[in-house]
Amino acid sequence: MFKKFISVLLVLFSIVASLTCAETENAGSKSKYPLVIAHRGASAYLPEHTLEAKALAYGMRPDYIEQDLVLSKDNHLIVMHDIYLDSTTDVAEVFPNRAREDGHYYTIDFTLEELKRLKVSESFIMGENGPQAKYPHRFPLWKSSFKLSTFEEEIELIQGLNQSLGYDIGIYPEIKKPYFHHWEGKDIAEIALKKLKQYGYTDDRQKVFLQCFDAEELQRIKLELMPALGMDLPLVQLIAATDWGEKLIQVNGTIQNYDYDWMLEKGGLDKIATYADSIGPWYPMLMEIKGDRPRANNVVRRAHRRQLQVHPYTFRADPEKLPEEFDSFNQFLHFAAYQLRVDGLFTDHPDRVVSYLSRDRSNR
Ligand code: CA
Repeated sequence: MFKKFISVLLVLFSIVASLTCAETENAGSKSKYPLVIAHRGASAYLPEHTLEAKALAYGMRPDYIEQDLVLSKDNHLIVMHDIYLDSTTDVAEVFPNRAREDGHYYTIDFTLEELKRLKVSESFIMGENGPQAKYPHRFPLWKSSFKLSTFEEEIELIQGLNQSLGYDIGIYPEIKKPYFHHWEGKDIAEIALKKLKQYGYTDDRQKVFLQCFDAEELQRIKLELMPALGMDLPLVQLIAATDWGEKLIQVNGTIQNYDYDWMLEKGGLDKIATYADSIGPWYPMLMEIKGDRPRANNVVRRAHRRQLQVHPYTFRADPEKLPEEFDSFNQFLHFAAYQLRVDGLFTDHPDRVVSYLSRDRSNR
């Protein structure tokens, strides 16, 4: 009798245990929320791509912090968005005679030692009355003291904080304009890969994605450069609109915009899936407006069917940057996470996104 009671108890116990386990797993998959990628750091609050903006972003606990990479004259990887120094530094004052004929000051024309002499500001647009803040409500122009930094300096900051604070925050570097670097006789992809390897980023066991707008260069990275270095990093194909001129090509002696349209047309994602793990589209590429309501088009679904993650850019809470279809930034985030069902998103406001997604998660 007692034995029977015990065995019934054991059966009941195992049923309860399996139910609890199933529930936990279920809760686990439900709580999966998009990766938060701090776009150029906490760039809504401090000048983009400065170490200060990265440290602040780190404290907001995103999943990844982004680095844009361009080369200096002496082949150092500099973390900055443009290939020009014009709109975030005082280069025009410090080196007034170093602009090219087109009026731009190119990072690639300066050594690291020279670049370190520049002051960095919140980004500005040169107007008739001097520099005007690109985002008037963000950090004021030219205040405090910020510098350009190298990729090594930033990796060491993030890896150092991973040790001292104990979180595991990843890096999300972008190789900027490889075509331009090739024209200048430099192989930025190879230099970036070697630097990543030196710091222990070789495959998907580390928290890293490598992104680029250049499909042909990503294929070269996947098929030639990484195998030669014994690496296999997850790659992200960024998708631009053709008329942005994100990549230029020479055809019969003339320079023209590379045509991005194939990427989202029939067969495009199949091609991308042969070399990349994710796509990074501009978020409007994932939506359509039906009546006056935004809804998902079929891009995310088609990408997921090909095992491609989708990490759109850029989610900004600045009121002037909120798409008109949404009443609030949170509503926009909700749409991205639960209607578009993106796997990650780039944001200038990592605190807002982490807070919203975490709160939403705990309410489920
Ligand atoms: Ca970028």
